[in-house]
Amino acid sequence: MPKRLGLVIDLDRCTGCGACQAACRLENNIPPERPALPGVVGAPFERPVRASDWLVLRSVRNAKPFPDADRAFVPVMCQHCDKPPCVAVCPVGATGKSSETGVVYQVYARCIGCRACLAACPYGAKVFNWSEPVWPGRTGLALTPFASARGKGVAEKCDLCVRLEHREHLFEPACARACPSRAMVFGDLDDPESRAGKLAAGPLAFRLEPAVRGDGSRSAANLGPRVVYVSRRAWLKDWAENGGM
Ligand code: SF4
Repeated sequence: MPKRLGLVIDLDRCTGCGACQAACRLENNIPPERPALPGVVGAPFERPVRASDWLVLRSVRNAKPFPDADRAFVPVMCQHCDKPPCVAVCPVGATGKSSETGVVYQVYARCIGCRACLAACPYGAKVFNWSEPVWPGRTGLALTPFASARGKGVAEKCDLCVRLEHREHLFEPACARACPSRAMVFGDLDDPESRAGKLAAGPLAFRLEPAVRGDGSRSAANLGPRVVYVSRRAWLKDWAENGGM
């Protein structure tokens, strides 16, 4: 039976500790940083490049003075759109949508590095490897066998840790497993009995709206992101639904 897997993130539980990001790096063989490209003039390539994180923690404030000041942390990764523009533009089928799970996947061996998907993604969820990864010390000996180690010239992104070998038994994504406050709930959003399904259909749920919507075809309503956020704070929902990205 096809599923519609997704992630529900309770922003009122998230403390911004960064455990999700660290777990994502370890699970998916994301090196700590990539080296500068030698001889290339102009930013940003002359500087060492930050880790190509698949999950970024955004820090958001409500811009009110004390005592109403408030702050939230928003983990942002690929939103696993129901109608993903990145899939529509890939000329070689290196990115696609699983009919079994609904997860938007990436086949690294197929990617030709054209970066059309980076331009198409309104959430900025894809990262491009401008250089070969560098593994300090002996960390390169500890790569996980469940994720391919990507080289230079490949676009990559979150796949919710759903791998081919996990088909029969779905594991929680590494970020959800690592979260000490259990802010992330993974599951079938179409299953009304699942916790994820109940939260996603609840009154506190909202989706992240891309900052640039153009003609409306790139609005959350059209894209159908399957990363769903939950909060009791109205300002946070306003931020997310008004181009918070
Ligand atoms: Fe593709 Fe971006 Fe949507 Fe992820 S968030 S499915 S990369 S368009």
